Amino acid sequence: TSPVLKVHELGMTFPGAREGLRRRSGVKAVDGVSFEVRAGETLGLVGESGCGKSTTGRLLVRLLDPTVGRIDFRGQDITRLGQRELRPLRSELQIIFQDPFASLNPRRTVRQIIAAPLRAQGVSGEQLRREVRELVQLVGLAPEHLERYPYQFSGGQAQRIGIARALATRPALVVADEPVSALDVSIQAQIVGLLERLQRELGVAYLFIAHDLAVVKHLSHRVAVMYLGRIVEIGDKEQVYGAPAHPYTKALLSAVPLPDPAAERARERIVLLGDPPSPADPPTGCTFHPRCAKAQQICRSQAPLLTINGPGQRQVACHFPEA
Ligand code: SF4
Ligand code: MG
Repeated sequence: TSPVLKVHELGMTFPGAREGLRRRSGVKAVDGVSFEVRAGETLGLVGESGCGKSTTGRLLVRLLDPTVGRIDFRGQDITRLGQRELRPLRSELQIIFQDPFASLNPRRTVRQIIAAPLRAQGVSGEQLRREVRELVQLVGLAPEHLERYPYQFSGGQAQRIGIARALATRPALVVADEPVSALDVSIQAQIVGLLERLQRELGVAYLFIAHDLAVVKHLSHRVAVMYLGRIVEIGDKEQVYGAPAHPYTKALLSAVPLPDPAAERARERIVLLGDPPSPADPPTGCTFHPRCAKAQQICRSQAPLLTINGPGQRQVACHFPEA
């Protein structure tokens, strides 16, 4: 299938803090990231907090402006479009946030919230009322919920409202930035199931951002692993989870509990050395080298490039990937 989104060497540097008349050097939150999202698929984007995955998501929907690189959405370069030029694309490119309450206007009813993106497309009158009613039902809420306000809902219900708003205009791509990590575990599975059902019914593609590798495994077709602003491994879910090639991916996966207690006892846990370094002062060469048990001399001086490794076009950025 063809890509809906193509990202090429995307980078975002936050300006450094001011010190008197000087400015400290900036922080590279996203550094040379390239990938694509295919029509109707889910690409999981995983990594520890602060690795740049949320910033990447915000760049893609142009809530932030990239410093360098290029974003193609359905064949159109949207990297430098202004807000006015972006408006017609908003219906095709949506985002769901981690905290549903923070992203829903507390002074608007559910009806007003879900209707807003449709109104912006010129939908009105009886058609608007009908589509809004269909949308609340599509996400598992009832028509009587339409006249209520966000605070009258639980976190899981509020996220359903956010999902209805994001899908109202039938977008081709939704960036879902940790959409379940603020919810109770029992509710998480329901929301994940809802997102999956909507993908089957509407053909929408997701960039699903999460730090929870189990959730990402469940619903992704492909997975990208980020570390300090860079993608270190990307490929089909089966390959990345079944035979991780980057030492960081291996370490992340070794921390995910296994359902089978015997397997859990038998397996080797890889403990990462130290904390993630600050993106304000990244290590030289491979930025993972201070925490990598396999690091050699070359790792300290030379950054490994993302190169194809293994079947299914899996790519890995490591001088000594797992065979
Ligand atoms: Fe470890 Fe070297 Fe690979 Fe980096 S390039 S992950 S330091 S082996
Ligand atoms: Mg985040």
